[in-house]
Amino acid sequence: MRKLILVKYAPEIFLKGLNRGKFEKKLKDNIKNVLTDIEYEFVEDSGRWFICSQHMEKIIEKVKNVFGIMEICIVTEIEATLEEIQKQALIELEEDPAKTFKVQTNRANKGFSMNSLEVSRKVGAYILQNNEGVSVDVHNPKCTINVEIRNKAYIYAKRIKAVGGLPYGMNGSTMLMLSGGIDSPVAGYMMARRGVELHAVYYHSHPYTSERAKDKVKQLTDILKEYTGKLTLYVVPFTEIQMQIIEKCREDELTIIMRRFMMRLACALAEKYGINSVTTGESIGQVASQTMEGLVVSDDVSDRPVFRPLVAMDKIDIMDVSRKIATYETSILPYEDCCTIFVPKHPKTKPRLIEIIKSESVLDIDGLVEKAICEMEIYK
Ligand code: ATP
Ligand code: MG
Repeated sequence: MRKLILVKYAPEIFLKGLNRGKFEKKLKDNIKNVLTDIEYEFVEDSGRWFICSQHMEKIIEKVKNVFGIMEICIVTEIEATLEEIQKQALIELEEDPAKTFKVQTNRANKGFSMNSLEVSRKVGAYILQNNEGVSVDVHNPKCTINVEIRNKAYIYAKRIKAVGGLPYGMNGSTMLMLSGGIDSPVAGYMMARRGVELHAVYYHSHPYTSERAKDKVKQLTDILKEYTGKLTLYVVPFTEIQMQIIEKCREDELTIIMRRFMMRLACALAEKYGINSVTTGESIGQVASQTMEGLVVSDDVSDRPVFRPLVAMDKIDIMDVSRKIATYETSILPYEDCCTIFVPKHPKTKPRLIEIIKSESVLDIDGLVEKAICEMEIYK
């Protein structure tokens, strides 16, 4: 008999058909990557994954944040005989003194002499005989005793919810426009949780945005790295572009033209490094530049899909996620952002594409983009 950690992956992975093996392999690799400094043994029994280690707490803390893991349970492994199962089920209930219970059995080992319903009944009856203080409640039990019958049997009551999503790195890649604000780190997290590999770009308007603003974005990158393993940050100088726009374009069009440059730069980097898409932290209607018309006009310069996972979320809900993923405290540090430095008094909220294209035509667009990319810094 020994205690193990049962690692259950998201049911979506079961639905991957012929690709399921690839998803499973990636997930196993990602688990191994977060456990490099801990001693453990990975055990498989008929499609179930278990981790055996002296350092259970530490492992649970790490593994529950691996994208693709749905649930973690602490199980007792025993010989697959009815007697052993009954004894252990009783112990499990006594460890978690609930007044009502039910037994739920999953029998993958079809060689076992009873079906799952029969096992549940016999185990339930045994518990009732040996513990007078409890009763069965199949609909709303305080405690569910789970019995898994494979080559061995595994008994558990305690279940820990994990992060869910899909294995990181299985669903292409995206260039996240990462500002120092609350929204973009959350947008990046949401994409990563769906298995999309992240790369990040920050537009830095030195000396109008300080070194501390840049450090804040680096800190946010470090927090996101806790979830993704690796994450490269590209810091692209943005001052010259902003100065040119201010000098040569209409004041009320500054924001939208600036946003189109951000998009062009993200696409240029994506092209350079073979990244499939772009992600931003925009949410419809949140600020003057995030109107439907604004988003349409900035998307016009993109040659690849632009994802905005927060598009339909309220700020309050975005803040909740940011607290949960631990980026909030860093995001609210009060350093200026390039978007907030040169804000027109009355920005156009319904920009028209042909007008914007005309206004921009006075700028050396390709030259500005190329120069900014040439002068960027890369933090791996
Ligand atoms: P955030 O909280 O993410 O800063 P926001 O509500 O402040 O977003 P905007 O400033 O309009 O909104 O920015 C919208 C999106 O544009 C951001 O979510 C981010 O993806 C991108 N962005 C804005 N400023 C920068 C920047 N300096 N560098 C990189 N991306 C940026
Ligand atoms: Mg911002």
